[in-house]
Amino acid sequence: MIPSIKSVIITEDQIQHKIRLLADQILHDFSDGPLVILSVLKGSFIFHADLVRALAMDIEVGFISLSSYRGATNSQGEINHIELPLPDLKDKNVLLLEDIYDTGASMAYAYELCKKEQPKILKTCVLLIKKGAKRIVETPIDYYGFSIPNLFVVGYGLDYQERYRQLPFIAEPYLKEN
Ligand code: 5GP
Ligand code: MG
Repeated sequence: MIPSIKSVIITEDQIQHKIRLLADQILHDFSDGPLVILSVLKGSFIFHADLVRALAMDIEVGFISLSSYRGATNSQGEINHIELPLPDLKDKNVLLLEDIYDTGASMAYAYELCKKEQPKILKTCVLLIKKGAKRIVETPIDYYGFSIPNLFVVGYGLDYQERYRQLPFIAEPYLKEN
């Protein structure tokens, strides 16, 4: 069953075009050697898979597992970290990917986790930035895909109660409480 969608916010073509633009920028900025691309699970898994395939360079991948939403549509402000083995980041060029920048809590947590490993360069990339969202903590964002209204969105990795992640576009869903 395909879950019900109120409106598409960003189309599949727009996302794929943006992936190529981001890949061009990243290739240009990291032309000096291998890059470790880490992403925050689960929401970034499709973004990660598409971005690495658009990058013709030496790449290692890794994952950080965080959750903050616990099935609801507003952040609980508390991060649940399931520890996965990290690749060696010491003196490496590292790019940290997140699906969406909302309160900023997840990105800040992941950023500090990486920083402790003393990478040579640590840059951040998010697919979506929520305009006007209340930020708890700010982390410098080096690359981003789209700025979106302060809505709850699903698709392209993002879920509502673990559903909708497989949609190839970003959409506003019909929620049960609507
Ligand atoms: P933050 O920590 O910045 O508040 O939120 C980041 C995490 O909350 C994201 O990685 C994502 O998992 C979840 N999140 C924030 N906004 C949305 C949204 O609009 N839709 C979905 N599905 N998840 C969101
Ligand atoms: Mg996430």
